[in-house]
Amino acid sequence: MKQNNKPILIAGPCSVESREQLQQVTRELCTVPHVRLIRGGVWKPRTRPGGFEGIGEPALQWMKELQESDLRFADNSPVRFCCEVASPEHVELCLRYGINSLWIGARTTTNPFMVEELAEALRGTGTHVMVKNPLSPDVRLWLGAIERLSQVGLRHLAAIHRGFSMYNTQSYRNAPLWELPLQLRRSCPGLPILCDPSHIGGNSQLVEPLSLAAMQLEFDGLIIEVHPHPANALTDGAQQLTPADFKTLTDKLNTLLSQQPTSSDTRLTPLRQQIDDIDHELLRLLAQRMELSCQIADVKRESQMTVYQADRWNAVMDDRLQLASQLNLDADFVKEMLEIIHRESVRVQMN
Ligand code: PEP
Ligand code: MN
Repeated sequence: MKQNNKPILIAGPCSVESREQLQQVTRELCTVPHVRLIRGGVWKPRTRPGGFEGIGEPALQWMKELQESDLRFADNSPVRFCCEVASPEHVELCLRYGINSLWIGARTTTNPFMVEELAEALRGTGTHVMVKNPLSPDVRLWLGAIERLSQVGLRHLAAIHRGFSMYNTQSYRNAPLWELPLQLRRSCPGLPILCDPSHIGGNSQLVEPLSLAAMQLEFDGLIIEVHPHPANALTDGAQQLTPADFKTLTDKLNTLLSQQPTSSDTRLTPLRQQIDDIDHELLRLLAQRMELSCQIADVKRESQMTVYQADRWNAVMDDRLQLASQLNLDADFVKEMLEIIHRESVRVQMN
């Protein structure tokens, strides 16, 4: 769902803090090419009570005023806003103020009861809804929320990858676990998937590398937090970009994307052919290996041996890891692959 091979860009502050802040950031962002929506948190989910929990309804009034002003995006379309909703009351208020693009936050996606209530509130409205991944790395829960919204007839749906809350996220605020959004893509081929590098990184320095990674993985767009003065932000100050830094980032992204050839490089064809041949050969060899496992199972049964032989398995692993090292293959990768093969071999022998 990219437009002219350019990513859909959504940008704006983590939280709407004042009329002036919203006006200032909107004026700066609407001139940036390919920005299609301004984000702004109206109700903020805070881990602990007592902090700034969002402006609430007045923020919707300020968004409405700007939507009705003569401010336009670079493609000359009227300025539009989006915000997070977590309850049917939020939905009702947003729609009353003409905010027709909403997102469901990570904490809400985690709870099917809440998603169901939101879906009912959105039934028949034609609202555009983006669904952030749940906090835990569970693609089915993410998919379930998208299905609940689809079932009430919403046709303008998208997903947002904002990383997963885990004990060890390395240098990230939320672990990217890129294979999960790619899994979602396989389940829902037509669904646009945006990346939220701000909440994955938790740090403005990480927004650029994460955005570039998302483009390499063919995400359809980015939702990025931008604040006129990140150091004074009431929420998520460390991860928000200044409008100037956001503009520099989008220039880099546009350059990168315009360099990408639209048709495939012909040098790829013979290389891909070889990869196809090797994959076919690997599968034939795996089938042969499983056939040998069946024969081994017969022998073990006759001689009353158990299927799982720890010493043999340790010796196999040591031998293969030695060879892997000589072949410059990553040890963790080879270990994981052999474990999968061995699991299947044990399963076959148990049958
Ligand atoms: C946000 O976008 O400001 C937000 C709270 O995000 P998430 O639901 O991803 O934590
Ligand atoms: Mn935020």
